[in-house]
Amino acid sequence: MPDFSPERDELLDKDKKYLWHSMAPCNAAIPPMVVTAGAGSWITDIDGNRYLDAMSGLWCVNAGYGRKELAEAAYEQLLALPYYPLSQSHVPGIQLAEKLSEWLEDDYVIFFSNSGSEANEAAFKIARQYHQQNGDPGRHKIISRYRAYHGGSTGALAATGQAQRKFKYESLGGGFLHVRPPDSYRRPDGMTEEQFNLLCAQEIEETIVWEAAESIAAVIMEPVITGGGMLVPQQCYVDRVQEICKRHGVLLIVDEVICGFGRSGRKFGHHNFGLKPDIVTMAKGLTSGYLPLSATAVRRTIYERFASDGEYGHFRHVNTFGGNPAACALALKNLEILEQEGLVDRARELGARLESEMRGLRAHPLVGDIRSFGFLLGIELVADKATKQPASAETVKGIIGQCKSRGLIIGRNGDTVAGYNNVLTFCPPLSSTDEDMNFLCATFTDVMNNQLKGTP
Ligand code: PLP
Repeated sequence: MPDFSPERDELLDKDKKYLWHSMAPCNAAIPPMVVTAGAGSWITDIDGNRYLDAMSGLWCVNAGYGRKELAEAAYEQLLALPYYPLSQSHVPGIQLAEKLSEWLEDDYVIFFSNSGSEANEAAFKIARQYHQQNGDPGRHKIISRYRAYHGGSTGALAATGQAQRKFKYESLGGGFLHVRPPDSYRRPDGMTEEQFNLLCAQEIEETIVWEAAESIAAVIMEPVITGGGMLVPQQCYVDRVQEICKRHGVLLIVDEVICGFGRSGRKFGHHNFGLKPDIVTMAKGLTSGYLPLSATAVRRTIYERFASDGEYGHFRHVNTFGGNPAACALALKNLEILEQEGLVDRARELGARLESEMRGLRAHPLVGDIRSFGFLLGIELVADKATKQPASAETVKGIIGQCKSRGLIIGRNGDTVAGYNNVLTFCPPLSSTDEDMNFLCATFTDVMNNQLKGTP
């Protein structure tokens, strides 16, 4: 492991001077954590402090840190062929496309990009061009849910349902509509969860009808809303949305950027619901974050409309780096690791354990709700259990800070709207050991119990 400690202060000065961080204030009082190494579920900072990374970086290091085989797969491919565009072809691209179709357990054709945002942008363009070529040229609008995050590029941000992420960047692309998310915890009084879930699905149908079905291209949704607060729908919601889309000729895009690659305890999140999406987008866990790569999987029947179209005959979308051969070779090795180590099943097991240990906190006065999906967990913090008034930003930040000072990194939902940023999130590597889990659960429980005593 390289030792950067002699240059520590100089590096921090240069960081402040030259490096523009994402999602962090430019004049942050506390310097960023400079991470220098990772192994398994643990990262080490420049001062030698170790942390259990229960967020897998930004929800992506599914196979864990420090996998030499992944580095070697990329290295060997870089020596053999570092780059060629996929307007032609290369072997790792072919092999990975086949493998992804196998993982999806259905008949899909794969288009590669570099990030989750790009995968969603490609999905929107494919949906719109498909309808054009299918004799339905008016279908251009995309429906998504409030609180969902779909990316930072203009189209993906327009699809995102988190208002304050858009402030100062509007106007974004037109033709994006938003509907109510299935947030069962905050459903209206007197409604059962099932009634509320069906009401939310119904709102999609009403939007389609009010906007005119012949103007709607697609609905995009994650299997569960992850970054927006771990909102897990009921089966009836998912079934109804699929049925509505089919009946109105609207394509269903499922964003598996976080839920994919074993995170849900199945290969893809939508497998848990028996969903049959028209388009599936994926990124993050595809390479466990080791290199940038994303994919848009498109049902063959949709692809065939592109092939048979006389006017264009292709998807008119340029992407220089999408499907880089080294990234594809690394992704293939990553999927091999997930398969060989049984990490999809392990995620289900670990998720069940995490949920059951956290259940012990249900009676805690700050804990309003605990929601899980595979090896993802969200704990919604409230100031008042009866009124469900969200916990203050200070309380939420305080808990995250106390966990960090004890060597545990946890996250928070990405909603920037006040009152909707009170969900603590957990998304540890699927390779986490039993000892990692012991540490995570014991540390978090202790931090929460200390809130009651007023001791950090
Ligand atoms: N979709 C979801 C569900 C995400 O969580 C994210 C990023 O966090 C994206 C899309 C965008 O991915 P990227 O940041 O790789 O562009």
